[in-house]
Amino acid sequence: MMHPLRLKAALSAVSLLTASLAALAQQSPIGPNEATTSTQAAQKAQRAVLPLLDRQSYADAQRGLVEALGDEVIMAANGRPAWSLKGYEFLKADEAPDTVHPGLWRHAQLNMTNGLFKVTDRVWQLRGFDLSNMTIIEGDSGLIVIDPLLSTDVAAAAMKLYFKHRPQRPVKAVIYSHSHADHFGGVRGVVTQEEVDAGKVSIWAPAGFVQEAIGENVLAGNAMSRRALYQFGPLLPRSAKGQVDAGLGKTISLGGITLIAPTRLIEKPVEKHRIDGVDIVFELTPGAEAPAEFIMYYPQFRVLNMTEIATQNFHNLLPMRGALVRDPLSWSKYLDGALQRYGSGHLPTLPGLLRWQPRHPGSLATGRSRPKKHCLYGRR
Ligand SMILES: [Zn+2]
Repeated sequence: MMHPLRLKAALSAVSLLTASLAALAQQSPIGPNEATTSTQAAQKAQRAVLPLLDRQSYADAQRGLVEALGDEVIMAANGRPAWSLKGYEFLKADEAPDTVHPGLWRHAQLNMTNGLFKVTDRVWQLRGFDLSNMTIIEGDSGLIVIDPLLSTDVAAAAMKLYFKHRPQRPVKAVIYSHSHADHFGGVRGVVTQEEVDAGKVSIWAPAGFVQEAIGENVLAGNAMSRRALYQFGPLLPRSAKGQVDAGLGKTISLGGITLIAPTRLIEKPVEKHRIDGVDIVFELTPGAEAPAEFIMYYPQFRVLNMTEIATQNFHNLLPMRGALVRDPLSWSKYLDGALQRYGSGHLPTLPGLLRWQPRHPGSLATGRSRPKKHCLYGRR
């Protein structure tokens, strides 16, 4: 039993602590703070060394823009907004405030690039509708949709903007580049289960897709979606002291997430298929960014789609939300393999794309020179 004097001391210590916590709570309500002096000094040092005057990426990101989405609000079926870029106006300021790293500020500005983009003849992209990008390839008789975003509402809105500028043709195939939800969740905003069951639409995915997609989003779904709120901050107020950017895109959409099971799986390391008259070389790249993933090369268009194996934000090797840890060695091998096979000459980054442009010779992406091939960077 505790000695009465010690008990008394312990109790008064507890009451002191309680009182001081209560006082602290009164003085400092939970909320954003100003940058500390050490943060200010660190940001200032970064501003001095980063190539912030290089604006090439801003021009690259605008290339091929047909129509911007702007600050249109896309509503979800439940009557709440699924997506909007409103609230990011604070990013128009040229210089980053002390609360935001200057490199993140620049990246966050580039990630505001949005709308329908023409990549090259027959290849289009919808950017800034979600964390990920959606690509549309025009086949001989219809469309091939690659990565239909995270939720149906934004996917349908993206298709609507595409059809505003291009002929209304049926979707013949959907391709999920990998097992993360922002690359398949919007599928029912693009096609229906009935169309797939009737054989009118084929759905392509890498080997292991269903197991991994269900493991991450259903079995671990509750924990994962809760942690995703921490990782991407979609519920935080948008401000220089709040949610600024999510790296691959501005944030995640908040509409309905769906899945239609694939009808065709890519199982060999490299497979070539002709889908609606379009040749696609699939190369499996498991474990580097997602447990089931491939990159694609479209030889007729000289377009390389690196999906999320190569992006211009820091590669996410250990996702905070608890998705599977990635294998950096495999990742480096896939990058090197793609560089060896497709990287000869200059390979312009395709805009989406937002990113520091590597300038050294032989790099996967350079922003200059006349396009010979295109390199699509997906977002995650
Ligand atoms: Zn991903």
